[in-house]
This record gives sequence, C-alpha cells and structure tokens, in this order.
Amino acid sequence: MMCAIQAAKRGKTVAVLDHTSKVGGKILISGGGRCNFTNVGATPSQYVSSNPQFAQSALSRFTPQDFVAMVQEHGIAFHEKKLGQLFCDESARSIVDLLVTRCHEAKAQFFLDCKINKVGKSELFEVETNQGIFSSHSLVVATGGLSIPKLGATGLGYEIAEQFGHKLITRAPALDGFVFGSQEIEKFPGFAGVSADVLIKVNGKKFRENILFTHTGLSGPAALQASLHWYSGEVVEVNFSPDRDVLMWFKEKRKEGARSEIKNLLAEIIPRRLAERFCELYFPQGNLPPLPQLSDKILSPLANEVQSWKFVPTGTVGYSKAEVTRGGVDTNGLSSKTLESKLVPQLYFIGEVVDVTGWLGGYNFQWAWASAWAAGQAVGTK
Ligand SMILES: Cc1cc2nc3c(=O)[nH]c(=O)nc-3n(C[C@H](O)[C@H](O)[C@H](O)COP(=O)(O)OP(=O)(O)OC[C@H]3O[C@@H](n4cnc5c(N)ncnc54)[C@H](O)[C@@H]3O)c2cc1C
Repeated sequence: MMCAIQAAKRGKTVAVLDHTSKVGGKILISGGGRCNFTNVGATPSQYVSSNPQFAQSALSRFTPQDFVAMVQEHGIAFHEKKLGQLFCDESARSIVDLLVTRCHEAKAQFFLDCKINKVGKSELFEVETNQGIFSSHSLVVATGGLSIPKLGATGLGYEIAEQFGHKLITRAPALDGFVFGSQEIEKFPGFAGVSADVLIKVNGKKFRENILFTHTGLSGPAALQASLHWYSGEVVEVNFSPDRDVLMWFKEKRKEGARSEIKNLLAEIIPRRLAERFCELYFPQGNLPPLPQLSDKILSPLANEVQSWKFVPTGTVGYSKAEVTRGGVDTNGLSSKTLESKLVPQLYFIGEVVDVTGWLGGYNFQWAWASAWAAGQAVGTK
C-alpha cells in the first residue's frame, strides 16, 4: 500500500492485488493490536541481512520521522513505549485506515480476493488471476514472509523471485522464541508463566529484556530478539542476574553476617521460583546450609549457573507464531536505491520478502515502509 500510494501520487496507474479479503492483516494483529509502527532509532544495524548495509539507502531516504509525519497528518495518537518503539494509543486499525485512505486519495485500485495463478513476462508483466489477466509495465512484489499462514502468508514472492532468476537466502521463522530439549524441560518443570528480566546472548548479540517460560521453551521479548540471531546448533546463554554479580552478592551478605538460607538470598535478586529451582538442582539432597557454612568454592558454580545458564534449543517455535521470516530474496540481485531487480527491469521486491529482517521493536514495519517508498519513487520510470 505504501508503494501504491507513492506510485499513484506520481500519476502511475496502480492495481493492488491481494488474495485475502482484507488488506493489512498483519498490521491489525501487530503490537498486541496497537501496532508498533516504527522505531525512531532505526538504522541498518538493527537488521539481519547477508548484506548488512543494503537497507541503508531506503532507511535514510524514508525515515521513521517521515512515517510519523504521515501518522500525525492522519490524526493518529501514539506514544513511545520503550527503546524508541512507537505504538498507536488506540488501535492498529488506524494505520490500515491511513494506508487505505491514502491509496484511495491517490487513486490506487484494490483487487481483493484476487487469487494469483501465474506470473509471466513478455513485453509486459502478465499476472493471471481469478479476476482476469493484469498486464503492466512494472510489477512490485510485496507478498511478505511465511509467518502466520492463516493470515494469508504464502511463498509466492519467493517463487516469483526464483522464476526470474533471483537467488534466495535460506529462510527461517524468527522473532518466535525457543523450543527446549528434554533436558531443559526437566530442569524447569511447571515453569510456564514465570518471567525474568535477563541478559540473553546468542551469536555475539546481547539483549536485555524479559523472558517468559512457556510449556515448551522460552518466549518474551528477549527470547524473541535472540531467536532472530540464532542458527541451528548454537548455544543460547542467559544471565538471570544482569545487574548484580551473584558471587559478590553472596560474599557481601556473608560479610554482613547474614544467616539466611541461600535460596532466600538468591530470591532477593532473581525470581523466587528460579532461585528455589537453581538451589534445588545444586543441593539435591535438600538440606540447604545457611550462608556462613558455604565457601566460595561451593557458591561459585551456583553463581556461575545463575549468571551464565547455557542451553542449545532444539529449534525456534515456527511460522505459526513467528513475527517474521529471516532470509528471503538475495539483496545482491536488487538495487538498494530502488529495490528494482538487477536481472529484470521494472520488477521490484519490497518489504519482508527481501533478505532484510529487523529486530523486534518496530523495525520491520519501518523497513516495509522505507523499501516501499523507495520503490514507489522509481516504479514505472522508463
Ligand atoms: C503477530 C505479529 C506481530 C507483529 N508486530 C510487529 C510490530 O509491532 N512492529 C513491526 O515492525 N513488525 C511487526 N510484525 C512484522 C510485520 O508485520 C511485517 O514485517 C510486515 O507486515 C511486512 O510487511 P510486508 O508488506 O512486506 O508483508 P505483509 O504485511 O505480510 O503483507 C503481505 C501481503 O501479501 C499478501 N499475499 C501473500 N501471498 C499472496 C498470494 N499468493 N497472492 C496474493 N496476495 C498474497 C498477503 O495477504 C498480505 O496482505 C509483526 C508480525 C506478526 C506476525
């Protein structure tokens, strides 16, 4: 829709084809129904791509402030929740309304419930659908990723890319959290619903936010962020006490003459359920000696486990829950300025279908807007 608005404003005849009956399905469910529509701090460093600088051009030409200006013009109230993340005060629907209204104003036409059977090209692009054949000088592919199939996600964009000779970067569900193996399930039985403020590390990246234990693994913002950077077989490391050195804490308390049980002391700095479980695992015989009887040698491995608990997930949760698809159309085949194919003139790929995947926090929409805007300035130019 963003691309349609820009192209139609430039006087191009634009048809928006979508096989669902309502546009903007993912916008509606995003941000818990309030749509985290951008992040004021978006730069290429918050994106994962085989070509890390690719997003720079589009992101610098259509900035978060440019989208905020559209939001303000449309009278949508919003607020910053945290870390530069902007959300609607009321409903994500207002963002869909904004885009649909601007499309109508610019005279871009919608064709919904439009099932696409085949895409071809002779002199013109030809898109064969249940509503007839659409012939055009240009074709913009904005079919998104594979996540949440029930909202209409398909792999059509990737198929079109391959059909025209583009390479794909391996795709994987991302921003979806982790699945535990049997060892971790046994380690944390009945922990679903327990949350903790942690520092999570994976593949050289660190995130300080909450995790949430689920019946099958880890969710919550920190686990979602980490899942974007995780590749099969890699270790995830969790620090349950990111602000306080646990061994130092025990030593200080011992110096002060504390006689408390170790699990109670630990529960002062990490959630009680976790404190109890770590102590239970570490002192399996159950009789937890009071602090003065515990030497540094005994305390140190426990402190280390709390601050650097490591596990290897069996996988991430999958496309049914993933917020995004990592990977996609290889950016080497696209112009970073216009998103036009380097192989087929006037063929464009924008948004999530491209191998540019943002962190959690409004970055994916900002990429969708910016790449769409960039293509919208160029599409149809001979
Ligand atoms: C639960 C959830 C919450 C999210 N929250 C946020 C958030 O708060 N902030 C953020 O930045 N990002 C968020 N995201 C990610 C964000 O929604 C996407 O990155 C963004 O929507 C991508 O935009 P797009 O236009 O590339 O693709 P999409 O928004 O996925 O749009 C693709 C369109 O193509 C259509 N389509 C697909 N296949 C076909 C086909 N075969 N024929 C015809 N039409 C087809 C689809 O129906 C859809 O309308 C969230 C995602 C999910 C799943």
